[in-house]
Amino acid sequence: MRIDLHTHSRASDGTQPPGDLVRAAAAAGLDVLAITDHDTADGWAEAEAAAHEVGIELVRGMEVSTRHHGRGVHLLAYLPDPTYPPLVEQLSRVLEGRQARVPDMLERLHALGIEITDADVARAADGTAATGRPHVADALVAVGAVGDRTEAFDRYLGAGRPAYVDRYAAPLAETIRLVTEAGGVTVVAHPWGRSQREWPGEPELAELQAAGLSGIEVEHEDHTRTSRDKLRAIARNLDLVVTGSSDHHGTGKIDHELGCNTTDPEQYARLVDAAARAAEAARARGRTPPDVVRP
Ligand SMILES: [Zn+2]
Ligand SMILES: [Zn+2]
Repeated sequence: MRIDLHTHSRASDGTQPPGDLVRAAAAAGLDVLAITDHDTADGWAEAEAAAHEVGIELVRGMEVSTRHHGRGVHLLAYLPDPTYPPLVEQLSRVLEGRQARVPDMLERLHALGIEITDADVARAADGTAATGRPHVADALVAVGAVGDRTEAFDRYLGAGRPAYVDRYAAPLAETIRLVTEAGGVTVVAHPWGRSQREWPGEPELAELQAAGLSGIEVEHEDHTRTSRDKLRAIARNLDLVVTGSSDHHGTGKIDHELGCNTTDPEQYARLVDAAARAAEAARARGRTPPDVVRP
């Protein structure tokens, strides 16, 4: 069983339409795929249709941009009812904040002598609901200001860089609670990815677990071998689920090929069990969380 629980489509900042992403996952030999676009369930319907077509197991999810003690944390939310009003409200605030900062970023780039227009960004975003910084990065690539997205973030758009603009992010513990109420489960994405050092650590993760967190993503390209070992030990101490994923973005991110990291089947089963329990409680309150799509 090859299981990849974190991927992006063109519904956010990936480069493939959701259906193509699912077909590519089947072609890559994956048995289970999660689609986890940033702050949106927009790709779910198309992904589901493709999953039936190619016979792959599909987990519908999203990656929510949250903040905890002033720092950005990406939270993977699997199988929540995407129509749960408090969740809808948080996600639309995040999406609005993402879009609202684009003009500010363009202004800062202008001050640096780089001319990118709204039309350039719209062209890069290609109709996605979640237009934002990655598409500004793509526009920078398109005009030849940088070679690729990574360089765009490193030189201009990343935190602390000259064209960086802050934006709204959902409070982490509250988002964990909302996703649980919506019948879903949560996993902290790449907790010690490049910029985070060794935070959140065990005490913070224990607190988040008390708020309802189910797991942490350990196998991820942004984690060093040492980080993976330490995170695995924390997960063992706290009895958190451990996941592994590609964080695939199509051609939008290099070295993140589908299935380059995978989740252990036993860990996946634990996550699905936790989701089933949350879903049952949510259904009793009138919510309709989605099931795993099985071939
Ligand atoms: Zn992320
Ligand atoms: Zn991601």
